[in-house]
Amino acid sequence: MSLSALGWTAREAEAFAPYAEQGFVPARVGVAYGATFRVYREDGEMLAEVSGRLRHDAKGRRDLPAVGDWVVVRRSETGDRGTIHAVLPRKSLFSRKVAGAETTEQLVAANVDTVFLMTGLDHDFNPRRLERYLATAWESGANPVILLNKADLIADAAADAVLGELGPVGTGVPVHLVSVKFDRGLEALGPYLQPGQTIALVGSSGVGKSTLINRLLGEERQRTAEVRESDQRGRHTTSHRELVRLPGGALLIDTPGMRELQLWSADEGLQETFDDIATLARECFFQDCRHDTEPRCAVKNAVADGRLSAERLENFHKLQRELEHLARKQDVLAQQEQKRQHRTIHRNARKWLKEKGAK
Ligand code: GDP
Ligand code: ZN
Repeated sequence: MSLSALGWTAREAEAFAPYAEQGFVPARVGVAYGATFRVYREDGEMLAEVSGRLRHDAKGRRDLPAVGDWVVVRRSETGDRGTIHAVLPRKSLFSRKVAGAETTEQLVAANVDTVFLMTGLDHDFNPRRLERYLATAWESGANPVILLNKADLIADAAADAVLGELGPVGTGVPVHLVSVKFDRGLEALGPYLQPGQTIALVGSSGVGKSTLINRLLGEERQRTAEVRESDQRGRHTTSHRELVRLPGGALLIDTPGMRELQLWSADEGLQETFDDIATLARECFFQDCRHDTEPRCAVKNAVADGRLSAERLENFHKLQRELEHLARKQDVLAQQEQKRQHRTIHRNARKWLKEKGAK
């Protein structure tokens, strides 16, 4: 597989250039088994371990490889194993909190271009949940696309109502009504599935993620459970690859953590998901107004005169509270480090998007 088929672009080539002169080879992480990684190279794949130096210098989990990462590898003498010396800058990163004595971070997927936020137009349909997924997606640096699956279950006339219910949640984000099972609306996914593009799927259990993956793979690589099972582990026993090349040339990242993503300090994402509130907030008297009990609050004024729904402000507050709760659980140092890296990742992501847009 060529590097570009693995998602390599001018961006990675530039970051890798200094290493090329020193005899390193680039590879993309396809599977993470704890400390060992299966990496894909131009001429095949191999197992690789993180070098002692990289491990020692790592200030946090973020400095170590994740599925989807481009890594700098030194091959062993025999050539069948490798050592990972560096992780190239990411254009996006999904991570989540791991509950325990201390909240730590788990890297879920790196360098995802498009993340499909999937929901079913059955009892699963929940604009609030989509709002959270969106916040997480924006925070990651990947481009979110909303897939409303099981469109066959609602009358065509009801589709408008559903989109209306989605309201501002879907503003500025592509929204596609599809029926994976009946192969309807899937042609709309074409632009996101171009060769070398990396995609990932997020959504609760039962929305149709496995069905879509099977469809994209074009074969029954992954058994779709007809009945929703509480044991999710069974779903992943058949798939030994976490980064899979689809027949059309796009790359799919499917890790257990990716499918059901938890919130991880989505502060910046919060601003973008609620950009109507953020815009109004610029007119608030206090710069740090929480739109709660403060006087001369432009957001509450907008609710009072009907320009903003009370429900939306309530959701904003709810998500804000959750994020604050999460933030308190992290220790201060970890937070500072994370902020610094987020900024870099965001800067990189924006730069990358700008360059992509300029092409
Ligand atoms: P996952 O848990 O998100 O991977 O969901 P699955 O792919 O296992 O699908 C859950 C159930 O929804 C299965 O019974 C599928 O057959 C069904 N399903 C998937 N897509 C559609 C669709 O477009 N319409 C309808 N009616 N059912 C669907
Ligand atoms: Zn305010």
